[in-house]
Amino acid sequence: MTTASAPQTSADPTGSVTVIPHIVAGERVSPQGRTGPVFNPASGRQSGEVALASAAFVNEAARRAQAAQRGWRDTGLGKRQQVMFRLREIVASRAEELARIITAEHGKTVDDALGEVARGLENVEFCTSLMHHLKGDYSEQVASGVDVHQVRQPVGVVACITPFNFPAMVPLWMVTTAIAAGNAVILKPSERDPSAAVWLAEAFAEAGLPDGILNVVHGDKEAVDALLDDPIVRAVSFVGSTPIARYIYARAAENGKRVQALGGAKNHMIVMPDADLDAAADAAVSAAYGSAGERCMAVSVVVAVGDVADPLVAKVAERIGGLVVGDGTDPDSDMGPLITRDALERVRGFVAGAADEGARIVVDGRELAVDGDGFFIGPSLVDAVTPGMRVYDEEIFGPVLSVVRVASYDDAVALINDNRYANGTAVFTRDGKTARQFEYDIEVGMVGVNVPIPVPIGAFSFGGWKDSLFGDTHMYGPEAFNFYTRRKVVTTRWPDPSESQISLGFPTH
Ligand code: NAD
Repeated sequence: MTTASAPQTSADPTGSVTVIPHIVAGERVSPQGRTGPVFNPASGRQSGEVALASAAFVNEAARRAQAAQRGWRDTGLGKRQQVMFRLREIVASRAEELARIITAEHGKTVDDALGEVARGLENVEFCTSLMHHLKGDYSEQVASGVDVHQVRQPVGVVACITPFNFPAMVPLWMVTTAIAAGNAVILKPSERDPSAAVWLAEAFAEAGLPDGILNVVHGDKEAVDALLDDPIVRAVSFVGSTPIARYIYARAAENGKRVQALGGAKNHMIVMPDADLDAAADAAVSAAYGSAGERCMAVSVVVAVGDVADPLVAKVAERIGGLVVGDGTDPDSDMGPLITRDALERVRGFVAGAADEGARIVVDGRELAVDGDGFFIGPSLVDAVTPGMRVYDEEIFGPVLSVVRVASYDDAVALINDNRYANGTAVFTRDGKTARQFEYDIEVGMVGVNVPIPVPIGAFSFGGWKDSLFGDTHMYGPEAFNFYTRRKVVTTRWPDPSESQISLGFPTH
């Protein structure tokens, strides 16, 4: 592992602080009350100041969104599709600009940020076919002279509340489909890296989206609570940590809104005795330490079955030695800093606690030598981890990979199925029967077979089970078109007046 590079960043070379505005009804609105600091994690310096909306500001934004939504609902599907096509071209042609904004506030490498943009774009591409996704159903002659059809109508105003770790991709998961379906959106991005959301709103506007259909309102709990309570908001999409997801789900549902709330994760990767250990070690290192472990689909636990543990741990440790930790704008960096100083201290605490609880620290990321004040920590590898240790039981959300040793496939499956999180998992094996059995047995929402980060492509939908998702609808893809529309079923008869009669019986076929 190399020393973190000196924090030369493109984001705050002058040390100036940028004011990050809301976007409401097409206008940039400067902070009017409370604000919060935004940091460049590579330098540790404040680079921005973001507005934190009051409840009254949120309520006014919701009112403006509602007023705009009526016109958008009336806009022909072909015109809506054209917005999606233009948006696709804008984001694709300026991907690097967006990626650098992400890196400046999140810290991930520019390469990784480009990957985030590409995965977000899949959702735009899926929505270029919105005319197909919004098609209704028709049944002719369900009774004599009676036909039935179903249409999809937008729900109205939708709130999208997003986490810090994918400041462009997760907003694109949500807002793209919500808008394609004819809704107006209030996007409340993470207050820790809010600039990507502003960039996206301006890209939508450039693509021809009318003012007021995508509003960006920054804020913290006060703004979120106002969205959850405002009767204008009819649906809430949330991605973030499990305690907040549970809270969002309960409060929004209490207020009669439809809600999908995706939470945290603890993703296990099983390595079977027949697996190719070099490929498994490559996959574990990539999936554990990419984006400094700040991915909801990061592998945080390797489950080593049988006697693979010793050679596998050695191979992972060897690969960690080759990773370069540094400023995300440096093309040589494999891994950037964590999002905040608090996150850094938290992750350090997990590594320290693991040693105290009897786990074996094979690689200690705290030993990384760092120049400057950036929020850097190196990758850690912790062996002999068992359930009951904090390092196993809690989501760390940092570059710490635990290894749990088990005797058999059955023990591995039982371990995963006992975990309260169930976002993603993977099995590494060369045996098709084992892989098929794993897919069948495992109680997790997204499964990889020799694929460590099985994020579904845009034509499927994304979501975990258990404490990783509250609600029953997954993000993006076909399920999102269900979430963001209300189905209306119309039963039609065109009778001859001469056949009309009174009948108090319940209508049957
Ligand atoms: P977070 O829960 O702290 O914040 C998410 C959003 O909730 C932010 O917009 C934040 O402003 C808001 N929020 C925070 N505290 C709140 C409160 N008390 N009341 C109301 N709103 C509040 O999550 P984060 O730290 O930004 O993101 C990391 C977490 O997100 C991790 O747990 C990660 O696993 C999870 N995540 C999950 C998925 C998934 O698909 N399941 C995807 C990405 C991230």
